[in-house]
Amino acid sequence: MLASLGTMPELAQQLSGLGGCTHPVRLDGHRTECAVNTTTGEIGNVLHHLDSAALPAGQLLVRCNNRRATRCAACAETYRRDTYHLITAGLRGGKGTSERVATHPRVFATFTAPGFGPVHNRPSGGRDCRCGVRHDEQDPALGTPLDPNTYDYEAAVLWNAHAGALWRRFSIYLRREVAKRAGLTQREFRHHARVSFAKVAEYQKRGAVHFHAVIRLDGPEGGDTSPPDWATAELLTDAIRAAATSACVEGPEVDGRAHSFVFGRQLDVRPIRSADFDDGQDLTERAVAAYIAKYATKGAETATGTLDRPIRFLAELAQARITDHAQRMIRTTWALGARPELADLRLRAWAHMLGFRGHFSTKSRRYSTTLGALRDARADWRRAQAAPTTALQDGETTLVLAHWVFAGTGLSHGETWLAASLEAAPGTEGEPTWTPVATS
Ligand SMILES: [Zn+2]
Ligand SMILES: [Zn+2]
Repeated sequence: MLASLGTMPELAQQLSGLGGCTHPVRLDGHRTECAVNTTTGEIGNVLHHLDSAALPAGQLLVRCNNRRATRCAACAETYRRDTYHLITAGLRGGKGTSERVATHPRVFATFTAPGFGPVHNRPSGGRDCRCGVRHDEQDPALGTPLDPNTYDYEAAVLWNAHAGALWRRFSIYLRREVAKRAGLTQREFRHHARVSFAKVAEYQKRGAVHFHAVIRLDGPEGGDTSPPDWATAELLTDAIRAAATSACVEGPEVDGRAHSFVFGRQLDVRPIRSADFDDGQDLTERAVAAYIAKYATKGAETATGTLDRPIRFLAELAQARITDHAQRMIRTTWALGARPELADLRLRAWAHMLGFRGHFSTKSRRYSTTLGALRDARADWRRAQAAPTTALQDGETTLVLAHWVFAGTGLSHGETWLAASLEAAPGTEGEPTWTPVATS
C-alpha cells in the first residue's frame, strides 16, 4: 500500500494543507503566474507554476468547505471558527473593523416562527406537557405535534420558505422604526446612522427556522463612525420590537387558502455588553459570538433529525432513519414542490431543509469582515507557505493563467490512512496547523 502513496513526506504535506478535510475536491489542471510589464504588456518571468500531475497526490486537492458538521467535521470547524471571528470582529473590532464598535449600542435578538399547532413541551410553570407526560430534555417527542393530523404542516413548510423574505422585510422596517424614534425621515436617516447586523438561522425541534441576530447601531459610515447621541440600546430594542411585530409577507394561495407570514410572539432582545462591564445580567460579546458560531454549522438535521443533503426521490425517505415529524415535513415540502404556482420556492431542492433555502449566516455589508475575506487570508497564508516565488520587479503586475477540471471528490484509501495519521497541533487560533506523525 505504501508504494502507491508516492513520496510520503510530500504527500503528507499536501494532505496537511487540507486541514483535516476528508472529502476534498480533486482537480486536474495547471496554474501559471507570470510577471507582466505594465507599460509594454510584455510577459516576463514565470513567478509560480503549478501542475496537478506533478503534485504528490497526482491532483490538486481543495477543501470541500462544507459547513455541516455531519458532512465534514474539519471544514465545519473552520466555518465555525471563521463565523466566530466574524461575529467577534463586529462586536469588539479587529480584522479590519474599528474597535469603536464595542461602544456602539448592540443587542442580541431571537426571532421565532409562529405556532402551527400544539407540540410536546418541557414542563414549565409547574405544569407538565399537555399530553400528561413529563418529558425530559432528551425526549425525541419534544417539539413534535400533539396531533400530527391537525398540525398545520403546509403553513410550517411555507413559513420556512418565506423566512428569508420576512427577515428582509423586518430589516427595512427596522431602519424605518429607528429613524422614526430619532425624529428623522428615512432620507435623513442615512446621514446620521446605520443599522448593521449578522444573523444565523437555526431550526427548532419542531422544524421551524428561527433567527439569532446581532444588531448594531453605527454612525453614518458604519463601524468607524460614532452613532449619534440618541442611539441607545433601549431605542434599538424598542424599534426591533415594533419592526418584528409589523413585518408581514404575503404568501401564495394554496387550494384557495391565502397564506401570509409573520414572526411568532416569542421575541427575545437583550443588550450586549463588553466583557469589562459585564454585571452578569446581559450577554457578553464572547457568549454571543460562540453561540452564533456554534449554530452556523448545524442544519435542520441536528435539531429536527432530518437529512443533511438534498433528496432526489421521495422513495429515499423510506431508507432514512428520521423521525415521523421530519418525514412529514419533508413529504409536505415535496408535495408542495409539485405545484407550478410555488415553483419559485424550489421546494423539492430544499426538502431536506424543510423548505428553508436561505443562507445560514448572513450579515449586512458594514457589520464586519466577510467569510470570503477570512478565506482569502487563509489562502494567502497557504500560498506564502508554498514554494518561494520570484519577486516582482518595479512596473510589473501579475497575470494568472489557470485551467482546472473537476476530477472527483474524496481521498484514496492510502491518502485517508495517511491523513488520519496527521494530528492537529493543540490550541491554535485562526489558521489550523497540522504536524505529520512519524511513520515507519
Ligand atoms: Zn471538508
Ligand atoms: Zn407531551
